[in-house]
Amino acid sequence: MTRTAVSVPSRDATLRIAERFGPTPQGEGPSAGQPALFIRLSGCNLSCSWCDTPYTWDVSRFNLREQRQRVPVADLAAWALDHPVQLIVVTGGEPLLQQRHLPALAEPLLKAGRRLEIETNGTVTPDPALLVDGLCFNVSPKLANAHVPRERRIKPAALEALSASGQAVFKFVARDLADLDEIAELAERFAMKQVWVMPEGVTTDHVLGRAHLLAEAVIARGWSLSLRLHVLLWGD
Ligand code: SF4
Repeated sequence: MTRTAVSVPSRDATLRIAERFGPTPQGEGPSAGQPALFIRLSGCNLSCSWCDTPYTWDVSRFNLREQRQRVPVADLAAWALDHPVQLIVVTGGEPLLQQRHLPALAEPLLKAGRRLEIETNGTVTPDPALLVDGLCFNVSPKLANAHVPRERRIKPAALEALSASGQAVFKFVARDLADLDEIAELAERFAMKQVWVMPEGVTTDHVLGRAHLLAEAVIARGWSLSLRLHVLLWGD
């Protein structure tokens, strides 16, 4: 793969964001526990039954006018660079729906030596301009437990591109042992090298209960377990 500096898009680039916050610990995956800044983008192309950020996309339940602030990318980069924090996480919603303007955000952050994680549900093929050193995709393909039809949540071309990029970590939200078989099928089909399993839940009891249920089987398959720190620290 060619790894060059990202192209420089228009200075007028903007992103629709729901919120930005931090520093706070990254809650999931290989960077869990590290201080991070979060930029949460608005909009999603799925509608998972257990979604913990429906305020970014669900117009039937939320007034999204406040959740769709159009913010210049230059302002977001300046905000991030103003903090002495190495890790910037772009999350959602589904951030790759707005990927046209993500290189403009990535460029100044990477040039300043920051690391960027883009969280995605794996349904959108990443723009080649995002395949650069210092940028990682935290890909979270959805299982049947999200109650979204498979043809909407599993997009082979996107998952193949993300896996082939060598910049992807795959994180799955699991509820029970049956979910692990579904993960195994996807991991094999799309040659996923780094697989993390996150017990689903918005309360400490749920997360720890499912972690106890899943831990041994996850480790036996050579995967990693992620306990979703933000739920343990601030969940009900
Ligand atoms: Fe929510 Fe993520 Fe599912 Fe979108 S992909 S509905 S943001 S859990």
